[in-house]
Amino acid sequence: MHSSTTTPGIYISGVTKQFSLGARTVHALDGLDLSSDRGSFVALIGPSGCGKSTVLRILADLEPPTAGEVAIHGESPNALRKAGRLGIAFQDPALLPWRTVERNILLPVEVVGGHRRNASELIDLVGLSGFAEARPAQLSGGMRQRVAIARALVTEPEIQLLDEPFGALDDMTRQRLNLELQRIWTERMTTTLLVTHSIPEAVFLADTVAVMSPRPGRVVATVPIDLPRPRRPDIIRSPEFHHLTDKLVEMLFAEDEPAA
Ligand code: ADP
Ligand code: MG
Repeated sequence: MHSSTTTPGIYISGVTKQFSLGARTVHALDGLDLSSDRGSFVALIGPSGCGKSTVLRILADLEPPTAGEVAIHGESPNALRKAGRLGIAFQDPALLPWRTVERNILLPVEVVGGHRRNASELIDLVGLSGFAEARPAQLSGGMRQRVAIARALVTEPEIQLLDEPFGALDDMTRQRLNLELQRIWTERMTTTLLVTHSIPEAVFLADTVAVMSPRPGRVVATVPIDLPRPRRPDIIRSPEFHHLTDKLVEMLFAEDEPAA
């Protein structure tokens, strides 16, 4: 949709993940396939506990898959992480309380090195102008999440992995941050995977929504979102938007029902 070529973005093939908990084995993922084009925005939805975070952690090189193949932009998660080419933001912004906003944003540069984007430009980009010297305790929850987003972007990552980054926020703040995320993504065209439990959020932001089954998780459907960009907030009242969200709700419910 955003490029005429089809260079690979995310490539996950036949991924299985088992965790052992003492004598017990948890089958988190079972034969999961998911692929996207470079520069595209994929949202991943599914019932709680179906393995969404596990997929993201495997892509981020925080967990090895038990079996299967994983590549992003044709390279291994490990190579990408070591080169600082992944940007990661989780639900908990995990800021260091003793550091200023600016020094929190610069942390990945200190840890992995690599390219460094201008911090004050990023602070403006996420709407935190004037707060460079503030400490996390002086910020609202929404502002802390913006710091986490800016930190995920500081190395100009080619890949952005976001695990419910706005999950704990109120609706208004969430909608504002969704708009900002869309603006940032439009500017940068970063290959993105966003885990969310909000179907409207997934439809508003994504090129493709991937739906997972309950554990052991697999991708059971990928739904292209052909809404024009840039998407304005009032698009959520359009019939096309409703049609897509209804369709996804139905898919999630169908997946939630116990097998006959
Ligand atoms: P989701 O993000 O979709 O809610 P997760 O990926 O967090 O799901 O978890 C999928 C399943 O794997 C859950 O049953 C969870 O309890 C289990 N799981 C996740 N991480 C671990 C771990 N480190 N050790 C044991 N089990 C885990
Ligand atoms: Mg999760």
